[in-house]
Amino acid sequence: MHQIPHWGGGRAREGRSGRTSPVFDPATGQQTAEVALASAAEVDAIVASATEAAVGWGAASLSRRASVMFRFRELLVEHRDELAAIVTSEHGKVLDDAAGEVARGIENVEFATGVAHLLKGSVSTEVSTGVDVQTVLEPLGVVAGITPFNFPVMVPLWMLSNAVAAGNAFVLKPSEKDPSASLRLAELATEAGLPDGVLSVVQGDAEAVDTILRHPDVAAVSFVGSTPIARHVYETGTAHGKRVQALGGAKNHMVVLPDADLDAAADAAINAGYGSAGERCMAISVVVAVGPIADDLVERIAARIPKVVIGPGAAPGSMMGPLVTEQHRDRVRSYVTAAADEGARVVVDGSTPPRDDGFFLGCSLLDDVKPGMRVYDDEIFGPVLGVARAGSLDDAIDLINAVPYGNGVAVFTSDGAAARHFQRHVHVGMVGVNVPIPVPVASHSFGGWKSSIFGDHSMYGPDGLRFFTRPKVVTSRWPTPGGSTIDLGFPTNH
Ligand code: NAD
Repeated sequence: MHQIPHWGGGRAREGRSGRTSPVFDPATGQQTAEVALASAAEVDAIVASATEAAVGWGAASLSRRASVMFRFRELLVEHRDELAAIVTSEHGKVLDDAAGEVARGIENVEFATGVAHLLKGSVSTEVSTGVDVQTVLEPLGVVAGITPFNFPVMVPLWMLSNAVAAGNAFVLKPSEKDPSASLRLAELATEAGLPDGVLSVVQGDAEAVDTILRHPDVAAVSFVGSTPIARHVYETGTAHGKRVQALGGAKNHMVVLPDADLDAAADAAINAGYGSAGERCMAISVVVAVGPIADDLVERIAARIPKVVIGPGAAPGSMMGPLVTEQHRDRVRSYVTAAADEGARVVVDGSTPPRDDGFFLGCSLLDDVKPGMRVYDDEIFGPVLGVARAGSLDDAIDLINAVPYGNGVAVFTSDGAAARHFQRHVHVGMVGVNVPIPVPVASHSFGGWKSSIFGDHSMYGPDGLRFFTRPKVVTSRWPTPGGSTIDLGFPTNH
C-alpha cells in the first residue's frame, strides 16, 4: 500500500512512527493509500528544521518573498486541474467544486504577493521635539496550521500564504482523511523558490497536534475544524504561551422573507445546502421561512431535489459526490432516520444510499425543525436541509441569535431596509444578503462569532496578516552632541 509521507527540509520524509491511517477514495469506498502518523519525535525534527529556516527567511527581502509568492501563484494556476483531481480523489467532492476551492485558495496567494505594501507599518515624525516613532511588523518565527478535511487546498492556503509572505516558517498538519493535496502544495512552493524548511507538512492525528500545541519553538497556531477540537486547540495552545486562532463548526441559517424571489431562494437553498454534500462550514443547514410562504418554499425546494445528480466526483455530470468516510456517512444518515421521531416532517428522505459503492447518501429535506431537536441543534455536515418557520423577521433573528454557533447566515429579500435591519441585529460573523455562502474575498477576513471561533483574529486577509506578525514600536531621538542633562522624571512630550 502506498504510504503518504511528511514533507520537511524541502523533501518528502518517510514516516517512521509505525502508525498509519487509511485513506479512501470515497467514490468507490476502496482504500487507496495509508498516511503516516507522526510521532512526537518526528514533529520535533520538522520543527527543528523550520526553526533553522525561519532565521534566513525572516531576513529575506520583501521583494524576494513577493517574487516567490508570484511564482507560487503561477504554479498553482498551472496545476489547478491536477490539484482539483487530488482533492476529488480523497475528499469526494465533484471536480468543478474542487476547482472552485483551488481558485479561492489561489486568491489568498494573490493577496500575499502584495506583502511589500501590506507590511509597510507606520511612522510618526516629531511626536515630541526631535523624536520619531515607527511601528514595524516582524515575523513570529515558526508558526503552525492544523486543517480540516473539507477544504484540503483552500484552508492550508488561507493560512500559509500570509504566514510565509510575512517571513515565518510554516508547519502544516493537514487532515489525515485527505492528506495528499498538502504535499503537492509543498512541492510547488519549493519549486517556486521557497527555501527548504520554510514550508513543512507533518502528517498526523491528535499526537502530532498535541505535540505542536506544547512545542516551545512554535509561536502561533492557526486551526480550522470542529468546535470541540477548536476549543481544545485554543485552550492548550494558549496555556503553552502561544498565539492561537481556532475556527470551529457552524449551523448556518438562510432566512427567506415573503417578498423574496422564491425560485431564486429555492435554487440558493439547494446549492448551499447540498453543494459539496453539505460538507462546508458555510453550508446552509436551516432555511427559515418567514410568514405565509413556508409551504410554497418547501414545495419548490423539494421539486428541485430530483434534479441533483449524485455520482462520483470525477464523473461528468455529477453534481453531488459522496461523503468523506463511511463512518461520517452513517452518522449523517442517523440524523435523517431519527428526524421523524424527534417531531420533524420528512419531506424528502435521502437516507437510503443511492449507489452500492462508495460513501453516497441522497439529499434530505426536513420540515418543521425546531430548537431542542438534535437535527436542529447539531452541526450535521451532510446533505440534510431543515426548514424552520418564523412569524416575522425579528422572530427569525431571535431564533438565529439563540444558536451557539455564529459562522455564516443569509437573508433573501427584495426589501433593502429589512436586509439592513437583519444585518445589524444578527449575531453572526459573515452575513449574505441574497448571497447564500458569503465567504469573504481574500482582501477581507474570514471568521464567525461565538462557538465558531476562539481567539481574537479572523482568518486570512488583513486579520490573517496581523495574526502572523508582531508589531515592534521604535521611538528614536538623534540629539545634538552635548545637549543632554540629568532628569529622573517620567519622559513627557514637549
Ligand atoms: P476535526 O475537528 O475533526 O479535525 C480538524 C483537525 O483537527 C484535523 O487536522 C484533525 O487531524 C485534528 N484533530 C481531530 N481530532 C483531534 C483531537 N482529538 N486532538 C487534536 N487534533 C485533532 O474537523 P474535520 O472533521 O476535519 O472538519 C470538519 C469540521 O471543520 C466541521 O465542524 C466544520 O464546520 C469545520 N470547519 C470550519 C471552518 C471555519 O472556517 N469555521 C472551515 C472548514 C471546516
